[in-house]
Amino acid sequence: MKPLSDGTIPPEGSVYWIALKQFDEAADILNLDDGMRDLLRHPKRELTVTFPVCMDDDSLRMFTGYRVHHNTVRGPTKGGIRYHPIVNLDEIRALAMWMTWKCAVVNIPYGGAKGGVIVDPDELSIHELQRLTRRFATEISILMGPEGDIPAPDVNTNQQTMAWIMDTYSMHKGYSVPAVVTGKPIEIGGSMGRLSATGRGVMITTREALKMRGKTFSDVTVAVQGFGNVGSVAAEIMSAEGATIVAVSDASGGIANPKGLDITALKSHVVQNKLLKGFPGGDAITNEELLTYKCDVLAPCALENQITSKIADRVQASFVAEGANGPTTPEADIILEDKGVFIVPDILCNAGGVTSSYFEWVQDLQSFFWTVEEIDERLERILVEAFHQVMAGAEKRKVGKRMAAQCLGIKRVADATTARGIYP
Ligand code: NAD
Repeated sequence: MKPLSDGTIPPEGSVYWIALKQFDEAADILNLDDGMRDLLRHPKRELTVTFPVCMDDDSLRMFTGYRVHHNTVRGPTKGGIRYHPIVNLDEIRALAMWMTWKCAVVNIPYGGAKGGVIVDPDELSIHELQRLTRRFATEISILMGPEGDIPAPDVNTNQQTMAWIMDTYSMHKGYSVPAVVTGKPIEIGGSMGRLSATGRGVMITTREALKMRGKTFSDVTVAVQGFGNVGSVAAEIMSAEGATIVAVSDASGGIANPKGLDITALKSHVVQNKLLKGFPGGDAITNEELLTYKCDVLAPCALENQITSKIADRVQASFVAEGANGPTTPEADIILEDKGVFIVPDILCNAGGVTSSYFEWVQDLQSFFWTVEEIDERLERILVEAFHQVMAGAEKRKVGKRMAAQCLGIKRVADATTARGIYP
């Protein structure tokens, strides 16, 4: 792999290495010239912050966080903020790059960003978490703003986190700025349908994939890895559309029942117990067993690098719907493609989240709010159109669906770059 401008190459197999490898392959297919390749494979700007938080016992603890803007050519940057003990700058760079291509795939006027803090939020009290969030928001406020960079929830962050960020930013400005984040509570400018939008998008794109093979949700069984914002909603909506959800999992392990799981009961179990562990309506399985469980649709909705080459051989599903970002390694991708598995790639499958975030931002800027019917109808239209554009690209270029999605997104960003020209 060609080194980055600082002479480094990310460790082979890391998420950033994967993102760059995918980009290089797409750039070859698109025949991008060397200058454009170099421009698009580098992040535009990166901020690392190290900041103190007063803990409940009056001690001080230092935390490290990041915000990366990958590309701003098509508009302000958009991307989630995650709280996780293994967050690192390379991972955030990769996720920011994927956000650029994702926004372009669904053709919304954003560039890509991502942020994260190295922290296990389960170890912090709610007060500590609030102080951490407000301080991190202040630290990244030199990059963040409704016209420049608009964060959203991601792993281990939620509506409450966004409300604190919005409030912090607004306090500094002296007036309310709802459009600075999306995924906020409805009471402060959040949008109808935002909470369920990523999961709904997983359902819509999977439904279109099933249609292409002459199937509907009533014909299929589904296994979902991850039971958070994306996974639990995807499971719930696919189940409502007629699918039988045979297995789900979270960080505590999985639950399976070949006859189908009661998703409503599972959700209330998680509300009460935080984790799936101990749910009585199925048998306990490991996360690895979930990925190879007998089902038609496998929806990885947790973290990166879950379907590895070791697992891919044993995947029994004929559809993989990537609710998570980067859940499949490149080696596993080849194995799945060879087996004829229909992969709905992440930057298409989970793009419902950013699309509805865009709706929220537009509504906040106009202070004029849409009905849930308007939101759902617009989300449906955009995702179905993007899905078929990706499929047409795969057919035309004779490439896999992931490469087709990458090519669609990258070409739109390259064209926008050419149209704007290089400053000065
Ligand atoms: P979340 O924190 O709400 O949920 C994550 C879930 O994954 C939890 O149930 C957690 O227990 C589980 N999990 C963690 N480690 C696991 C492991 N090793 N094995 C199995 N399960 C594990 O996060 P989320 O917002 O649902 O995000 C999930 C994925 O979807 C991430 O890749 C994220 O980047 C992506 N994504 C999220 C959104 C969004 O709107 N939230 C949008 C697009 C993509």
